[in-house]
Amino acid sequence: MKKILFNKPSIFRNNLKKLRSFADEGVYKSKCEKWLTKTFKVKKTLLTNSCTAALEISAILLNTTKGDEFIMPSYTFVSTANAFVKFGGIPVFVDIDTKTMNIDYNNIEKAITKKTKAIVIVHYAGIACNIDKIVELAKKHKLYLIEDAAHSFMSKYKNKPLGSFGDLSTLSFHETKNIHCGHGGALLINNKNFVKRASYIRDKGTNREDFQNHLVRKYTWIDYGSSYSLSEINSCFLYSQLLNAKKITKRRREIFFMYQSRLKNLSKHNKIQIPFITKNCFHNGHLFYIHVKKGKRANLIEYLRRKGISTVFHYIPLHSSPFGKRKCKTIGKLFSTTKYSNSLLRLPMHNAIKKNEIKKVCDEIEKFFE
Ligand SMILES: *Cc1c(COP(=O)(O)O)cnc(C)c1O
Repeated sequence: MKKILFNKPSIFRNNLKKLRSFADEGVYKSKCEKWLTKTFKVKKTLLTNSCTAALEISAILLNTTKGDEFIMPSYTFVSTANAFVKFGGIPVFVDIDTKTMNIDYNNIEKAITKKTKAIVIVHYAGIACNIDKIVELAKKHKLYLIEDAAHSFMSKYKNKPLGSFGDLSTLSFHETKNIHCGHGGALLINNKNFVKRASYIRDKGTNREDFQNHLVRKYTWIDYGSSYSLSEINSCFLYSQLLNAKKITKRRREIFFMYQSRLKNLSKHNKIQIPFITKNCFHNGHLFYIHVKKGKRANLIEYLRRKGISTVFHYIPLHSSPFGKRKCKTIGKLFSTTKYSNSLLRLPMHNAIKKNEIKKVCDEIEKFFE
C-alpha cells in the first residue's frame, strides 16, 4: 500500500536550468524581490535565508533592548518569540481565538504597558487575524505592527495581501510552506523609516547594497547585522515557484475545500471541529486541520498511521516550554491556547496529493468515529 505523506515539497521542471552563471550575482534575488514588492505593494522586499532571519532583522530595526515587550500568541513557531528574546525583548503571550487559533483581538489591549514596543501577529493556517481592528489598535497606542506571515503567503484580506498590513512582515520559503526554495524567507518593509537600514542589517551590517548600486565607492561596516541574505541558487529555485504561485495556491485551496466538504458532516455531529474562515478572507490552503476531542487525538494518529496515513499535531505552546517559562510573560491562564493546541491535528496537504487519497483519509477518519 502506498503511504499518504503529510507533506511533499513541490518541484517544477527547469528550476535550476536557467541558472547559467554565478557571475551574474544577484540576478534572481533581484527578480524575486521585484516580484514580491509588486505583489505586496510594499516599499521594499529583502530576501533572507529564512523567516527566522527576517524576524531577527525586524528585532534589530526596532532597536530592541532589554525589557521591551512584544505582544504575541503563544501558539506559534519558536522564532516568532526567539528573534526578540535574542536582543533582550520579552514576548508577552495573550490567549487565542479558538475558531482560528489566531491571537484574540479582545485580549491585546489589556496586555499593553509602557514597555510595549510592538504587536506581533501570525495568520495561522493562512487565515487572517482580525486585521482591521489590530491595525487600528496599533495606531491608537503608537505601537509597531509585525506580521509573521510565514503561513499566509498569497492569502488576502479584503483583497489586500496578508503581509502588507504591518510596518514589517516576514515570509518563509521553507520546504514545509506553500511556496519554497528548500530554505528561505523574506522581509517585507512597509514603513519607509526602515528601508535603508534593513539592507545594511541583512548584509552583515555593511552598505554592500549601496556599493552594488554604485552609490558608494567602497563598502564598509555601519550597523548591526549578520549573514541573513539568500543565495542565488535558492533565489533561482524560488523564482520559478513564484511564477507558479497562483497555480500552487489554487490547487491547495481545492484540496482544502475537498476536506471541508467531506468532513462537514462529522463536524455537524460534533465529533470534530474544522477550520473557520474569517469574513473577507481569501485563504491560501496552507493547512487543513481538525480538532479532536480530549484523549482521542493520540488514538486517531495511531489509527491513521496503521492505515499508512501520516498526520501531525502542531506547536507546543511557547509559554509551556522550558525557555519560554524563563523568558516570557503571560497574560491570564491561556486556557484556550493550552486546550486547543492539545486537540489540533493536521491532515496530509501538498500539491501532489490525489483525490482518491483525500477520500481515503476522510473515509478512515469517519470509520474511526463510527
Ligand atoms: C515556519 C515558520 C517560521 C520559521 O520559518 P523559517 O523560514 O524556517 O525560519 C516562523 N514563524 C512561523 C509562524 C512559521 O510557521
